[in-house]
Amino acid sequence: MTLMISALMPTYNRADLAFERGEGAWLYTTDGRRFLDFAAGIATCSVGHANPQLVKAITEQAAKVMHVSNLFRVPQAERLAARLVENTFADSVFFCNSGAEANEGMVKAIRRAQAKSGHPERTRILCFEGAFHGRTLGMLSATGNPTYLDGFGERAPGFDHVPLNNMNAVRDAVTPETAGVMLEPIQGESGIKAADKRFLQELRAMCDEFGLFLGFDEVQTGVGRTGRLFAHEWSGVTPDVMSAAKGLGGGFPIGAILAREEVAKHLTPGSHGTTFGGNPLACAAANAVLDILLAPGFLEQVRERAAFLDRHLDTLIKDFPDIFSERRGMGLMIGLRCIPKVSDVLAAAQAAGLLAVSAGDNVLRLVPPLIISEQDCLEAVKCLRQAAATVRAAILETIS
Ligand SMILES: *Cc1c(COP(=O)(O)O)cnc(C)c1O
Repeated sequence: MTLMISALMPTYNRADLAFERGEGAWLYTTDGRRFLDFAAGIATCSVGHANPQLVKAITEQAAKVMHVSNLFRVPQAERLAARLVENTFADSVFFCNSGAEANEGMVKAIRRAQAKSGHPERTRILCFEGAFHGRTLGMLSATGNPTYLDGFGERAPGFDHVPLNNMNAVRDAVTPETAGVMLEPIQGESGIKAADKRFLQELRAMCDEFGLFLGFDEVQTGVGRTGRLFAHEWSGVTPDVMSAAKGLGGGFPIGAILAREEVAKHLTPGSHGTTFGGNPLACAAANAVLDILLAPGFLEQVRERAAFLDRHLDTLIKDFPDIFSERRGMGLMIGLRCIPKVSDVLAAAQAAGLLAVSAGDNVLRLVPPLIISEQDCLEAVKCLRQAAATVRAAILETIS
C-alpha cells in the first residue's frame, strides 16, 4: 500500500479518484474509467461538464479581460444583474464569490436595513435547526451545528435557532432584537428537508406583521435545481433578500445577493464590498448559464426529467425496502434516505459507476447536472440497483 502524502490540508476525506475531463453528466478518470456524475460538484455543475456554450463564454471573456475590480463599470455584471432582476422578485443584485459570502452579505443587508430604518437594536437573525449556511465564522454560527463549530472558539453572536416547520417555536423566539429570518427552502446538507409551503406563508405573514426581513438561502436550491429558477417560487412566498451561488456559474465560482429595494437601498457606497466579486469572467460564465436555463422549455424539461427519474427511483425503493426508506426533495434535488449507513451505499454506488453526495440524516443526495437525459437517469438507477444489491449481499453475509 502506498502512503499518500499531500500538501493539501487534511480538511476532506477525499475519494481516491481524479478526473481528467468531463462531458455532460459524465466524468472520465486518467485511467479511462467513466462515472455518471450525480454529485455535479455538489449541485454546482448545473449545465454539465464541458458545456460548449459555457466553455465558449469563458474562453472568449478570458481572452478579452478577466478582472478590473468594482472601481469600474462591469457590463457583464450589469447584464447578469438585470436578467436576475427581470426573472425574480429582486430589484437589485450584489455579486460575490461563494455561498457563504453571499449569506454573510444577506445577513449584513438585513441588519443594515433595520439599523438605517430606525431599528439599530434589531440585529438578531432567526435560523433553523439543521440549517447549513457556510463555513465563515459568521455563517458557522448561523449554521449552528456543533460539529462544524468544534475548536473554533466562541460563536459569533446574533443567531437564534428553532426547529423547522414549527411556527409556535418561531413566534416564541422572536424578540425586540430580531432583525429577520434566514432559511433554505429545502435544507440540503442536513438531508433534503423541505420547509412546508404553509410554514413559509406564515413566516412571510409574521415578518410583515413585525417588520422583519425574510431571507432565503437558495445557494443549493436555486438556479433551476428544483425545476423553477428559484425554489421559493413553488411556494408562492417571496423573500426580501436571497442568496445564490453553487449552480450560478456552472462550476465557475460566483455568488449573489438578490434583494428588494427596501433592503438594497441601504447598501450605499462603501458599506459592503469585494475584490473579485462580479468580475467580467465570472459574470460571463453566469450569463452563459442563464442563456441555457432561461431558454424556452428548459426548466420544463428539468421538471419532466425529475418526474421521470422519480418514477424509477420509487420502483427502486419498492424493490429494496431494506436499503432505501424514503425519497425526498424536489426537481433534481433528490434525497434517498438509507437504512444501512449512507457511506456504504455511496461507496457501492461509486463502485457501480455513479457519483453522488451524502447528506445528513443518512441521506444519499442526488443532484445531477440539469441537462441530464432520460438515458442518464436510467443508467443512474441501474447503478443504484447494483449498489443496493451489493450492500444487501454484504449485510446478509454478516448476518449468516
Ligand atoms: C453550499 C452551501 C452554502 C455554502 O456555500 P459555499 O460556496 O461553500 O460557501 C451555503 N448555503 C447552502 C444552502 C449551501 O448548500
